[in-house]
Amino acid sequence: MAQDSIAVVDLDRCQPDRCNYECSNYCPPNRTGKECIVTREAAHDEGEPFEGEPDQIQISEEICLGETCGICVEKCPFDAIEIINLPQELEEDATHRYGENSFALYGLPIPEKGKVTGLLGPNGIGKSTAVKVLSGEITPNLGDFEDPPSWDEVIDQFRGTELQDYLQGVRDGDIEVARKPQYVDQIPEQFGGETRQLLESADERGVVDEIAERLSITPVLDQDIDSLSGGELQRVALAATLVQDADFYFVDELTPYLDIGQRVAAARLVRELAEEQNRAVLVVEHDLAVLDLLADSIHVAYGRPSAYGVVTDPKSTKKGINEYLRGYLDNENMRIRPEAIEFEQHAPRPVSEADTLVDYPDMSKSYGEGEFSLDVEGGSINRNEVLGVVGPNGIGKSTFAKLLAGGLEPDEGDVDLGLDIAYKPQYVEADQPMRVDAFLSSITDEFGTSYWNTEIAQPLQLERIMEQNLPDLSGGERQRVAIAATLSKDADLYLLDEPSAHLDVEQRVLATRAIRRYAENHEATVMVIDHDIYMIDLLADRLMVFDGEPAEYGHASPPQEMRSGMNEFLANLDVTFRRDENLGRPRINKPGSQKDEQQKREGEYYYT
Ligand code: ADP
Ligand code: ADP
Ligand code: SF4
Repeated sequence: MAQDSIAVVDLDRCQPDRCNYECSNYCPPNRTGKECIVTREAAHDEGEPFEGEPDQIQISEEICLGETCGICVEKCPFDAIEIINLPQELEEDATHRYGENSFALYGLPIPEKGKVTGLLGPNGIGKSTAVKVLSGEITPNLGDFEDPPSWDEVIDQFRGTELQDYLQGVRDGDIEVARKPQYVDQIPEQFGGETRQLLESADERGVVDEIAERLSITPVLDQDIDSLSGGELQRVALAATLVQDADFYFVDELTPYLDIGQRVAAARLVRELAEEQNRAVLVVEHDLAVLDLLADSIHVAYGRPSAYGVVTDPKSTKKGINEYLRGYLDNENMRIRPEAIEFEQHAPRPVSEADTLVDYPDMSKSYGEGEFSLDVEGGSINRNEVLGVVGPNGIGKSTFAKLLAGGLEPDEGDVDLGLDIAYKPQYVEADQPMRVDAFLSSITDEFGTSYWNTEIAQPLQLERIMEQNLPDLSGGERQRVAIAATLSKDADLYLLDEPSAHLDVEQRVLATRAIRRYAENHEATVMVIDHDIYMIDLLADRLMVFDGEPAEYGHASPPQEMRSGMNEFLANLDVTFRRDENLGRPRINKPGSQKDEQQKREGEYYYT
């Protein structure tokens, strides 16, 4: 029988010298003389070496009354405790638990030869933990961290399932693993030198040149790693993984910093590796249009981030994504979100009487002879609107923003806009040794007001990270802080470059809502550059489309309504979307399929 509740103590937050053990003083079992909440030292076996702070607390899950009590959770001034009733439907024991009152993982994804398996779930839900188990880096303890079982006992637990053979391979050291890390920004710190050297040192399959060509990174092979942009690093990291000769490939996010063309090219390459080389690939991906294209089947991971995570049995990709969006898992009989995520089946109605923020004229800008040049068709931007901006990387989107801001003079076109622009760049750096709350309060006087908390801090889930230092934040946390900082400024126009990067699906939806509400309530105008087509659909009132030849020349169309904008953009890419019959979710059509050809004939690429 699996246990029915777990207690999780965040040891980074538990600070007994500042609270006088409010938790244990009020814990009902403690008050009747039981030892439910004790110090870690008291719970500790004598003679064993001690790691960490002995005076921090430990909670006995056997004695604890569970979530309905929750008194300690309320009493702890540092939000260090979580008491969570596990879903009753969860029949199994944990696969792995890091220790007393630590994160617990239930279930495992099943890698399959010749297939791409997706893993869809929030950050902090145990995806990397699962991969460490599958790669043999962690021997799973089945929840018994005090007296861990042997590999044979673990395999026994999975006997008769598809994982048995695989885990035997892991035990015998027969499984070679190649892995692309989530945060590619850190690669230059770990590896100096030329890109080609990095790739060749990993190249066990002898395919560097071919893969570099497919990912369009040939031009940067002779550049130093530390000179690459985020989008280039992402593709180099993927290449360095795919050139290895492994049984099991793990790709932790494929899409951050890539434009749609690059996303689709990368997805095709990963599929080919699985199909043609008969390898097992597991991908974590939050861009659902790309996951749909990429995976043969998916596991959904749900639970409570940083407390526990459950990996479901595999589902068909279509069913899994639909259930995830609907917020309800059928087989598991489990609600994972109060409401469904819904898309516009029909383009939003054009706004009739919009108040104009700015009219800008035709403009052109070249960075010099033989350098990049941009042509902008004049247009207008409305007050209170969220304007989606789409187009490949290197096509002049930031150049356009600088023209509006007056930081850059056009060669042609008479502008004196001087708009005050608040800008969130694509790559968010946060290396000042400063706490999140100090950083944000240095930006706005509204910091901490109930208005700011409701409009910014809550939807961007900042409360739990306020006391952390900027350099310690994960990529998703850093992204949310950067969005908050940008929206908190006083400006005419807010420009967000790829706010979706490193956010999980849930966080994308919340950030979308925060941005939209902010625009509406603040009479703010927001331009959002993003390559996640779902996010653009959820977010934008109108669309501005860039096309051309990246790094050579770019052309910007005036802002237009969503339907014509999507049609123009997707026609450039030669990609059409159909609607899933159940949920109206947009799905990429197979090139050359009947639907694809019909929609192209009719010129309806997205809203059919
Ligand atoms: P994901 O990959 O889904 O973001 P992870 O598997 O990295 O999630 O982490 C899940 C949880 O496990 C996190 O709360 C993390 O803090 C915790 N965790 C990871 N490694 C350890 C460890 N060695 N000891 C204790 N807790 C850990
Ligand atoms: P996007 O925002 O669409 O990715 P950018 O406007 O940043 O595109 O850049 C468009 C092109 O102009 C890129 O090839 C970039 O390398 C080049 N570029 C940007 N700034 C300069 C500059 N100051 N001097 C020369 N080239 C530049
Ligand atoms: Fe004690 Fe459990 Fe109640 Fe916390 S939730 S006060 S540990 S019984």
